[in-house]
Amino acid sequence: EFNPLDAATLDWNKVGGLMPAIVQDVATQRVLMLGYMDRAALDATRSSGKVTFFSRSKQRLWVKGETSGHTLELVEIRADCDADTLLISARPHGPTCHTGAVSCFAGAPGNFLGALDALIQQREHDRPINSYTTKLFEDGTRRIAQKVGEEGVETALAGVAQLDDDLLGESADLLFHLIVLLRARGLSLDDAVAVLEQRHARAASKAAR
Ligand code: AMP
Ligand code: ZN
Ligand code: ZN
Ligand code: ZN
Repeated sequence: EFNPLDAATLDWNKVGGLMPAIVQDVATQRVLMLGYMDRAALDATRSSGKVTFFSRSKQRLWVKGETSGHTLELVEIRADCDADTLLISARPHGPTCHTGAVSCFAGAPGNFLGALDALIQQREHDRPINSYTTKLFEDGTRRIAQKVGEEGVETALAGVAQLDDDLLGESADLLFHLIVLLRARGLSLDDAVAVLEQRHARAASKAAR
């Protein structure tokens, strides 16, 4: 795992030894919580792969999830522009807030498509019975591609001749089957979005010239 952060370059003096650390869900990009890390907490986080804070109330190292089991699996750590705040990308195992909410910030925005893509990837791996997604993977890429075609046509028809609710429903069907198709080919929706980003960057640099 690529992790360019060098703890020695952080401005520990400025923050009095306690670095604010914002935790973000790697799948949905949703902000989950804010905690504080001293050097030991940062080292423990990196060596254990479980996000660990210095708890100001407990006055000790606190592995998030140590009693609830709702740990935060480390994906990546980055520092901000002036090295006095951390942004931690993590895979939450259960709700992050002690109230049982996904995020400590009630209603914090997040992209559900990322969570759906992660779920579909899990279905492909686990193949649980009585799952429509499992059935799609068992039927194979050709069948999934056919479904994308059907849903695309249904979306187009709804776009010209049906109610908004129908168009939304067909769009949801199309998105779901498209994610499954990409997955069946070892790709993700993010890969397709990256192509859009590249095109955007190219168009923007062209316009600047
Ligand atoms: P946990 O780390 O999930 O095992 O929770 C242990 C205790 O830490 C809880 O009873 C709360 O007091 C506190 N706690 C858990 N999650 C959070 C959070 N996201 N923010 C602040 N405090 C928390
Ligand atoms: Zn800063
Ligand atoms: Zn909370
Ligand atoms: Zn449909």
